[in-house]
Formats: sequence, structure tokens, C-alpha cells
Amino acid sequence: MTDNDNISEIRRSVQALCAEFPGAYWREKDSARAYPGEFVDALTKAGFLAALIPESYGGSGLKLDDAAVIMEEIQAAGCNGASAHAQMYIMNTLLKYGSEEQKQEYLPRIATGELRLQAFGVSEPTSGTDTLSLRTVAVRDGDEYVINGQKIWTSRAEYSDLMMLLARTTPREDVASKTEGLSIFLVDMRKVVGNGMTIKPIRTMMNHSTTEVFFDDMRIPASALIGEEGKGFRYILSGMNAERILIAAECIGDAKWFIKKATDYGSERNVFGRAIAQNQGVQFPIARCYAQMCAAELMVHHAAQVSDAGGNPGAEANMAKLLASEASWAAADMCVQTHGGFGFAEEYDVERKFREARLYTVAPISTNLILSYLAEHVLGLPRSY
Ligand SMILES: Cc1cc2nc3c(=O)[nH]c(=O)nc-3n(C[C@H](O)[C@H](O)[C@H](O)COP(=O)(O)OP(=O)(O)OC[C@H]3O[C@@H](n4cnc5c(N)ncnc54)[C@H](O)[C@@H]3O)c2cc1C
Repeated sequence: MTDNDNISEIRRSVQALCAEFPGAYWREKDSARAYPGEFVDALTKAGFLAALIPESYGGSGLKLDDAAVIMEEIQAAGCNGASAHAQMYIMNTLLKYGSEEQKQEYLPRIATGELRLQAFGVSEPTSGTDTLSLRTVAVRDGDEYVINGQKIWTSRAEYSDLMMLLARTTPREDVASKTEGLSIFLVDMRKVVGNGMTIKPIRTMMNHSTTEVFFDDMRIPASALIGEEGKGFRYILSGMNAERILIAAECIGDAKWFIKKATDYGSERNVFGRAIAQNQGVQFPIARCYAQMCAAELMVHHAAQVSDAGGNPGAEANMAKLLASEASWAAADMCVQTHGGFGFAEEYDVERKFREARLYTVAPISTNLILSYLAEHVLGLPRSY
């Protein structure tokens, strides 16, 4: 990819910031399963997490394609953007469908870092992939909504002030299409944690600060509703496309990190009196991963550009996520293989990045579901589920 001056400047600034957070920092956080608050604060202070907020609300008003470069560079530097990436993509729903009053109330404070918008409550224990069968309900009661139900995998909920929450406001049997009757709420968590909302951390194979969230007669003001009641599913789809594009960009960053790490190690490590990467059996897998990463990178930027031009990047965002997550996972596997036994030693960071990279063929949408989308919506094949 050839960069324009603006993109090159973004890359340099992110690289400079990330240099302050070396492998030792991430190893320590990983081992304690601790939230990298200092890193998130530094990103916020530098304005990177407000990249997509328009200048009129205190952000930098960058395009999605620029934001993708920020996320890519974070990962390529060996850092973990999963600690903060939601703020970028959740924003899309608020920007597109929030009222002027909601934008004035929240965006400038998110831009300064006074408020964190890091939690996205969609998945539930009985409805992961099948979002439309979710069971969390919001019932209007005067000037409030009363919410009951449960979310799972709500990442960063303990470290966020705001949560974008998807709940059913009209029972499924009372709507013509199952995509109707769902609504989106911007929940001020500071007012409800311990008062209707309970958060329980889930320990996972990597440091991801993910949780279960329980709603027990949780009351929120009716003004928390985004847009019109019942149209929430449509509203979050645009946020989900942004999410897929930004996470695909993170995968490209991961793939670049693994390829660089393998290239350096393969050139330095001597076995049988010569660098291991002199063997084609070692260098070809690295070269193949590089080609796979470059092809996926083109699709990521294409998807972002379709979105920036005002188009619907549904197919492109899905393809970007599919190709990039497979490219990063292939590179992760190759990197461990290139390092031999040292790929398993914590101090090399390879095993940590390997665990982190594994997530993205599963979440935020699994490979199978992307293939189903392409088969049905792009190729016109019969719906399989
Ligand atoms: C660490 C982590 C962080 C997450 N963060 C968030 C978050 O912040 N907010 C949030 O809302 N969610 C989050 N998620 C949830 C994530 O989006 C879901 O895990 C993902 O959508 C898959 O849902 P599921 O786990 O219920 O899998 P299931 O829906 O149970 O699927 C299991 C497997 O079956 C396959 N499958 C299911 N149906 C079909 C079908 N019809 N055809 C073919 N294959 C099928 C899937 O592809 C998958 O491989 C997170 C998950 C993890 C692990």
C-alpha cells in the first residue's frame, strides 16, 4: 500500500506512542489479566480514540480508512487494541442515529476521555450468532425503560462508563419481521452498576476483560433510546460493518507483527551452521503469509473506502474480516513454527500474540456466518439457516 502524507503521519504518531508500551508491559498485564489502563489513557490523550468523532464535537473527524490505520499500527507494534477498539466502532451508531442532544451530551466528553464508551452489549448466552433471538427485554414505564435479561462476552464493561445495549422492545411474535422490535440504548453504566446491573468477569485464554452482565429490573431514562424504538437492529448493522473493518485492520497489524518477528528470528537463528530462514522450508511459509496479508490488506482499505464514500460496505466489510482474520491466524501459526520451542516462551511475546490472534475467526462474527452472508446475499444461494 502506498500512503498519502496524512496516513504516513498517523502511522508515525501511533508507532511513537506504542514504543512507550513494549512487550514487558503487555506480558505483565497478560499474566495478571489486568486492564491496560495506562495505554488506553495514552491513546485517548493523543486523540486516537476520538478519531471518528467530528471536529465540531471535539474529535479529529478522520475517516474510517484513517481509523483502520490507527488500529493496524497498534497491533503491528505488538500492543493490543482490543482494550479500546470498541470506542471507535460503537461510535458509528451514535453518530448516525443519535439525536443532536445525545451527541452534544456525550461526544465531547468521550473525545476528552472524561467518559469511556467501550461496552457493546449484543451477545447473549442463548443467542450468540443468532442475534435476533435475543431475550433481554426493555419495557417502557412512563419516562423510563425497565430492562431484564442477560448479556455475555460484554468486553470492557468494568472499564467503561457507557454501554450500547441491544434489547427487545416488542415481543418477537408481535412483529412482522424478526429484525423489527429491537431497540438500541446508550446506557450510563455509572448510574446502574449495583442498581439493576451486575457485572461478572469471565477469565479467557487471553487478556480481554470480557464479562457477563445481568439486568434485574434495571431502570434507565427513556432518553437513553437511540433513534426510533424497534429499529435498533438496523441501526447497529452500520456499527457492525465498522467493527468488522476495524478489527480486520487489527488482524492486518497482527499479521505484519508475526511476519516481521518470523523474518527477524529466521535470519538470526543459526542451526546446522546457517540461518534457519536460508532453508526454503522456513522462508516459503513466511513469504506465503506475506502475500496473504497483502491481499487481505487491499480488501480492508477497499471496504473502509466504500464506507467513507457513503456506500453500504456489507459484502466488503465481511470479506475484509474473513480474509484478514485468516491471514493473521496463518501468520500466527507460521510464527510459532519458525520460532520452534522459543515460540512457546512468554518472553518472546509470540505465544501471547498467538492467543490474542485466535479470537478473530470467531468474534465479532465467525467465519461460517460470513460465508453464509456471502453465499446468500452476494451469490443468491439458498438461505441455510
Ligand atoms: C473474547 C470475546 C469477546 C467478545 N466481545 C463481545 C462484545 O464485546 N460484545 C458482544 O456483544 N459480543 C462479544 N463477543 C461474542 C461474539 O461476538 C460471539 O462469541 C460470536 O458472535 C459467536 O457467537 P457464539 O459464541 O454464541 O457462538 P455460536 O453462535 O454458538 O456458534 C458456535 C459455532 O457454530 C457455528 N455456527 C452457528 N450457527 C451456524 C450456522 N447456521 N451455519 C454454520 N455455522 C454455524 C459458528 O460459526 C461457531 O463457529 C465476544 C466473544 C469473545 C469470545
